[in-house]
Amino acid sequence: QAQLMQGKRGLVMGVANDRSIAWGIAKRLHEQGARIGLTYQGDAMLKRVRPLAEKVDAEILQPCDVADDDSLDAAFEAVREQWGSIDFLVHAIAYADRDELKDEYVHTSREGFLRSLEISCYSFTAAAQRAVPLMNEGGSMLTLTYYGAERVMPHYNVMGVAKAALESSVRYMAQDLGDQGIRVNAVSAGPIRTLAASGIGDFRYILKWNELNSPLRRNVTQDQVGNSAVYLLSDLSSAVTGEVHHVDSGYHTVGMMAVDAAPQ
Ligand code: NAD
Repeated sequence: QAQLMQGKRGLVMGVANDRSIAWGIAKRLHEQGARIGLTYQGDAMLKRVRPLAEKVDAEILQPCDVADDDSLDAAFEAVREQWGSIDFLVHAIAYADRDELKDEYVHTSREGFLRSLEISCYSFTAAAQRAVPLMNEGGSMLTLTYYGAERVMPHYNVMGVAKAALESSVRYMAQDLGDQGIRVNAVSAGPIRTLAASGIGDFRYILKWNELNSPLRRNVTQDQVGNSAVYLLSDLSSAVTGEVHHVDSGYHTVGMMAVDAAPQ
């Protein structure tokens, strides 16, 4: 049976543990024949990430703190040395201080705002800059976003603003890199219980609301996000770029439920 990612190599950034969306993506890429490199935030993560790296036969396992240019340079240099080129890049990284995700957006601190935009938006641009010279035969880049970029969601606050900037950066980079055969897209995933999500206030309520109010009446899984990521990273989506693809059980399409369809 033909595999969708046969002959392709790339970097997956953002595996922290086996609940990470990046892990769901890495597993599916591996199943479809991709050769994988992983980056992780720092030493504290290695104990959890190393056994996962082994499961997907990762050929590269590099620390990379995206807040640090030297760390980014070192990670991509390691990729260049080992492989010379890559075909795909997955960015599944975000950060906001917990304090910013409890109260209201209007109270966001300058420091919290800058930190969140730096890690959750600029880091994709910074990684893309370093990936471009390695994508000499074209490639596909993917980041992860959330509906809180488009509509106000409870407690998402500065992360929503960061995701709006991230989605815009997807469109700008798609334009900048299109003539080099590089595609840039985002998956907008429905809420999933992960380490990052645990910082968001009332997350259980958000999960329940999405389950009850989405057309498919269920939440999404890491594996389902992984499947859609494979589509965007493979040649199946060769005419798709600058796109924010919702993998959210259809939630973003609903304005209001009919009275007889609404949860009682
Ligand atoms: P996660 O906690 O498993 O992953 C977040 C990752 O970001 C971790 O691996 C962490 O190490 C990394 N990270 C944070 N700061 C970093 C830094 N300075 N340098 C390097 N790495 C850093 O959680 P997740 O939910 O899998 O998050 C992955 C992506 O998916 C994020 O962009 C998140 O916003 C997005 N997303 C999540 C959901 C959800 O409900 N979980 C929904 C839509 C989008």
